Amino acid sequence: MDDFQYFPAKNVKQACALLAQYGEEAKVLSGGQTLVNMMKQRLVSPPYIIDIKGIMDLDYINYSKDDGLRIGGLTTHRSVEKSDVIQDKFPMLAQMEYTLASVAVRNWGTVGGNLCSADPASDLAPTLIALGAEVTLTGAETQRVVSLENFFIDSFETIINQDEILTEIHVPKAVMNGGIHIKFAIRETDLAVASVATHLTLKESSPETCDDIRIVMGAVNSFPSRVKRAEEIIRGQKITDPLIEKAAQAVSEDIQPTSDMNGKEAFKRDIAKVLVERTVKEAAARARTL
Ligand SMILES: Cc1cc2nc3c(=O)[nH]c(=O)nc-3n(C[C@H](O)[C@H](O)[C@H](O)COP(=O)(O)OP(=O)(O)OC[C@H]3O[C@@H](n4cnc5c(N)ncnc54)[C@H](O)[C@@H]3O)c2cc1C
Repeated sequence: MDDFQYFPAKNVKQACALLAQYGEEAKVLSGGQTLVNMMKQRLVSPPYIIDIKGIMDLDYINYSKDDGLRIGGLTTHRSVEKSDVIQDKFPMLAQMEYTLASVAVRNWGTVGGNLCSADPASDLAPTLIALGAEVTLTGAETQRVVSLENFFIDSFETIINQDEILTEIHVPKAVMNGGIHIKFAIRETDLAVASVATHLTLKESSPETCDDIRIVMGAVNSFPSRVKRAEEIIRGQKITDPLIEKAAQAVSEDIQPTSDMNGKEAFKRDIAKVLVERTVKEAAARARTL
């Protein structure tokens, strides 16, 4: 690892000011699970490290019926997984966290760090997009709230500016009612080869009919993204096995996986299709029990 200057920031304002001052030569450090590994391998060598892990104001989970869920950017995966309110109101989020990496990584890794790493195989990002989440980006002089769906622009690339920190995730009050995230990985807690988060609502007047649906793919595109053609096939329709098959087929055609050591492109398209079928069936079954 190359030498660097280390700044433990006391608050968001100071951290953003340091980021603005040192520009592209500075990197935020949260849990360090990704960044420190990359520095050890000399994939990145930032001369300035702005450590925000000590900013306790960014470590929280708040829920209210009217406002929904708010998670501070420095909250760890383990806190999300173990949160009673998340297990109760947003079970797909807690269940996803249980399959994310090891307990050791979840104890250190933060939700802000996960999203800002912009790994195409992130498990957190598809789940939050399926839940309709937005994120707050705080800069030296600015603050903006953007839909998480519009946050990623390519593999390992986001819209975040150099002086900004991801300070909060907001999941609006649950308007949809059945959701699940499923990933396929070589070992259960590895990064996904393919993953799907599906969240849907059934019509009150006709509980076999889909009112609204979001299907979000992980690891099979350059960044986590919705598969809108498949959503449109299911939205407003009675959920039947042939309809689910048609939507899953559309997903396998629309995604853009690449062949790598985890499998060939065709294999990933097949896996994605199976996962979509399973998540839509399971999400509908969960919605019917509520
Ligand atoms: C062995 C291993 C297995 C893993 N398996 C999975 C998995 O199965 N699924 C999955 O989703 N993830 C997985 N991960 C990724 C892990 O979840 C992330 O590494 C972790 O969440 C990153 O968070 P961090 O706090 O450690 O970020 P850091 O390593 O501190 O930072 C990562 C990047 O984000 C930037 N950053 C961090 N916080 C912020 C912020 N608040 N605002 C702006 N920029 C920020 C940093 O500058 C850096 O570029 C795995 C990681 C490891 C090491």
